[in-house]
Amino acid sequence: MIIVIDGPSGTGKSTVAKEVAKRLGFVFFDTGAMYRCFAWKVLQEKIDPSDEVQVSSLVNLFDFTVKDVDGEKRYFVGQEDVTKNIRSREISSVSSQISMYSQVRKAIVKKQRQFARKVNAVFEGRDMGTVVFPNADLKIFLTADPVIRAERRYQELIGKFPDFSEGLTKEEILQEVLKRDENDTTRSISPLKQAPDAILIDTSELSIFDVVDKILQLQAQVKPIFFRMKTSYWLVYLLARFFFKVFFRLKIHGLKHLRPGAGILIANHTSFYDPPVLSISCPEEVHFMARESLFRIPLLGRLIHVLNTHPVSQDAGDMAVLKKMVELLQNQKKIIVFPEGKRSIDGNIQPFQRGFGFLAIKAKCPVYPAYLHGVFEAWPPSRKFPRFFGKITCTFGSPIEWDEFEDLPRKEAEQLLIEKSLQSIENLKKWYQGGSVGDPP
Ligand code: C5P
Repeated sequence: MIIVIDGPSGTGKSTVAKEVAKRLGFVFFDTGAMYRCFAWKVLQEKIDPSDEVQVSSLVNLFDFTVKDVDGEKRYFVGQEDVTKNIRSREISSVSSQISMYSQVRKAIVKKQRQFARKVNAVFEGRDMGTVVFPNADLKIFLTADPVIRAERRYQELIGKFPDFSEGLTKEEILQEVLKRDENDTTRSISPLKQAPDAILIDTSELSIFDVVDKILQLQAQVKPIFFRMKTSYWLVYLLARFFFKVFFRLKIHGLKHLRPGAGILIANHTSFYDPPVLSISCPEEVHFMARESLFRIPLLGRLIHVLNTHPVSQDAGDMAVLKKMVELLQNQKKIIVFPEGKRSIDGNIQPFQRGFGFLAIKAKCPVYPAYLHGVFEAWPPSRKFPRFFGKITCTFGSPIEWDEFEDLPRKEAEQLLIEKSLQSIENLKKWYQGGSVGDPP
């Protein structure tokens, strides 16, 4: 589960997020600390923070790690522990400045997404709910009166840096807070703003513990993915699962590889059974495209409509279909694609079509490979009707992450992604045929 907490400085975000993570046993990520560490590096290298080109070229050399030392998080740039240094006023203002550069954000956001893989975590920052994790399970946006935020920051500074804070006035801090708010909310990329589905909490009059309790109550109400299905989909899903369990002893491997939200489920394609088997193997609603004529068949038409099937008109070009799919993915849906294009006549995996590569790179979301076994035996393309009683297995493999290909030229990225996806399904097949030992690759 991913919980995100966004908001301006001084709303208590870090303290709240840390406490929420501690109580839930989740990992905590202070994403502002990453920008601060990079700001420290910029100053260390004596680069002018207003020189976007120089600052941006440094970000590729930014070696950032977080270590747990005696239960406390320590931030390292290279070998240097900078945990304390990054809280200074100078770093606050430089981090706000360098976080406006697109290359800097791109590199840091990539690291943040990598941290989120395979963990339950609380992320706090500015753009967590809007840009970095648009599919987070719970989104919180904290606000507070700027005067109260400045007061909190003032107390923090004189507590942490008594030597440097002599003569410091609350008015100065208020001006700094307002300046950072302005930078953060008006920058052109990833400005600080509340995601439409985030829950707003005004912390002006609340203690840290009030806010933590509120968030924990909200977290307890987050439904597991399985219960987020709409009722009609859920009913058909259960019926279909029952059918395949009873008649085909359906078995699913590798579910831990799936994450909620946008994603392209791909599989080898040998049978009419592939779309339903792949859909019900995924514990989250999935969408797919089908010919418009299928919707005109009385009962089937209704059924596939309930199962999130989207009509494709007979004369719609490939581009129109791809556009519709990208739209679904951008709305955080999962879609099913069979990259071979059509069913394999002999059950072997065929080359993937180019359109799949285009879609995966364009949509900027993970690709989840799956290997379907037993479907060809149950209903091969050569048979008009299926055989009953057999064994069907769906094996999900580790996701293929689009950002691995992000910096490559478009055509090369598409080609590599296609090759990697095909290889991944071949590996799952080998894993299955080798006796399904351990986790699927
Ligand atoms: O949260 P904190 O004050 O430590 O963040 C330091 C600076 O880093 C902020 O002023 C903001 O400009 C930037 N930041 C950001 N996006 C984030 C977190 C912080 O732009 N997700």
